[in-house]
Amino acid sequence: MRQLPGIGDYIASAVLSIGFDQPYASVDGNVKRVLARLFKIEVPVNQAKGLAVFKTAADKLLDRGNPGIFNQAMMELGAVVCQPRNPKCDSCPIQSHCAAYKDGSIHKYPLRLSRDPVPEYPIAVGVIYRKDRLLITRRPAEGLLGGLWEFPGGKIEKGEDPASGCLREIREEVGLEVTIDSYLTKVKHAYTHFRIVMEVFRCRYVSGEVKLKAHTAYRWVRPEELDNFPFPKANLKFMHFLYSSSKEDPEVTVESVGEQR
Ligand code: SF4
Repeated sequence: MRQLPGIGDYIASAVLSIGFDQPYASVDGNVKRVLARLFKIEVPVNQAKGLAVFKTAADKLLDRGNPGIFNQAMMELGAVVCQPRNPKCDSCPIQSHCAAYKDGSIHKYPLRLSRDPVPEYPIAVGVIYRKDRLLITRRPAEGLLGGLWEFPGGKIEKGEDPASGCLREIREEVGLEVTIDSYLTKVKHAYTHFRIVMEVFRCRYVSGEVKLKAHTAYRWVRPEELDNFPFPKANLKFMHFLYSSSKEDPEVTVESVGEQR
């Protein structure tokens, strides 16, 4: 049964014990809480590797003659009597066996691991104008946001102000010297395991030829052409600022396309 998609240990044990009288203890969150208090189990209930400890404890208690009724009783006990905040110990049928009740440590159990805070990274990004075009670069095909286009930028270093970080990142990523014309906006975006706070600057090309460090291609595009390229969502959040305003620099002529493999 465990081979079926979406069927975990808890469901498989519940079905086998309740439906087929098989001797499998079923352990859900309610049952873990009861067991944690009953035996003062010092393993966090939200730690995957701790499941075996709770399974072993439940297996030892299991009424092998009536596994289905036992499992339902344990689940019910956790849901109705041994509740998370205000357990009804006075009406609990296993009170006399409960280790946490005996020494008054009920509210210490179950133990929980506090989740690590999601890291947040400060990012500086430069929209570089050269004549009536903007520089965009394509990320490597492999890895995060693979193959998408973006504006040059990267992580702001410790102690660095966002504008300096923007100039440094542009120099490192695409080898250009630019000046900052103005601050455009701040964008916050959450990925699965981290968040970014992106400071976006409007920059003006000064000198240099594009030399890509990690990116695989670049384009100098007109603002109205941006729609033709796939961008990460974080970039799309400030793109509307660019459609209506192209900065002219009549003294500079540019090549518009580049590839680096
Ligand atoms: S005595 Fe209280 S803490 Fe212990 S199992 Fe019963 S309800 Fe839960």
